[in-house]
Amino acid sequence: MSYVTWLSQSLYLVEMLINMTKLSCADYGFDCHFVIEDDDMHELIEKFAKHTLDEHGIEYSKESLTQLILRKK
Ligand SMILES: [Zn+2]
Repeated sequence: MSYVTWLSQSLYLVEMLINMTKLSCADYGFDCHFVIEDDDMHELIEKFAKHTLDEHGIEYSKESLTQLILRKK
């Protein structure tokens, strides 16, 4: 991996981590008012995954949630 590629990917990741403090169910197509805020992206994804499983019966892996978040931006 070239330095430039590495740098742009790192900056992208940092930007994503800074912006990613909030997830709302409605953004992912659910008819649901659940909104979750957390400064820690891993916590955020974990809590959101638990909610979708408990409330909607859909089990998202952390990887697929991360992909959803990335696609949304
Ligand atoms: Zn929901």
